[in-house]
Amino acid sequence: MSLEKQLQQRSSLKCELCGNEENLSVYKVPDIKENALQTSLYACKTCIEQMDDVDKIDPNHWRCLNDSMWSEHDAVKIMAWRLLNRIKEDWTQDLLGMMYMEDDTLEFAKASGDGEVDENKIIHRDVNGVVLNNGDSVVLIKDLKVKGSSMVAKQGVAVRNIRLDRDNAEYIEGKVGPTLTVIITKYVKKL
Ligand SMILES: [Zn+2]
Repeated sequence: MSLEKQLQQRSSLKCELCGNEENLSVYKVPDIKENALQTSLYACKTCIEQMDDVDKIDPNHWRCLNDSMWSEHDAVKIMAWRLLNRIKEDWTQDLLGMMYMEDDTLEFAKASGDGEVDENKIIHRDVNGVVLNNGDSVVLIKDLKVKGSSMVAKQGVAVRNIRLDRDNAEYIEGKVGPTLTVIITKYVKKL
C-alpha cells in the first residue's frame, strides 16, 4: 500500500493537525530521516503552508493543536511540539507544559532547532523594559561615570549603534564621545 493510502487510512481523510477535510496531502516532517509512515502526516494546504513558512503562521489557526497534540502518532506530536514552540504565546506555553512525549520523540522534535532558542537566551531591556538589539540607539537617563577615565557621560546623551554583552543582560557597550564604554541597561532608554 502506498504511503499516501496508509496515511489516508490512518487519518480517516482528515488533516491530522486541524481536522480539515479538503486539500489534503502527505507532509513529510522535516529534519528527520526515519521510517516514512512514522515521520509523515496527512495535512491540509493551510497547515502545510504555515508549517513551511514561519512568517505565514496564524496563531489562531493552531488552536487546533489543543486536540491534535494528543495524537498517538509521532509525526503529529512532533509537528505539534514544533509549532507550539514557534508561536510563543501564553496558551502555547501552557500546552507545551502539558504535552507528553517519549524522550526519543522529543529528540526528533528538537532536530529542527525549535524550542532551543529561548531557554538560555539573554534579553537586554532598557529602563522601560523595551527590548534592546545590536545597533540600536539609546539615550542616557542619568549622568554616568565612564570607567577608567575622569569623564562623565551626561544624562540625555545619545549613544548610537550599541552592542549587547553576550553574557550579561545588564550590560551594553557603546561609544560615549570617542570612548567605547560599558553602560548598564537600566540607565538607558531606547530611542
Ligand atoms: Zn490542517
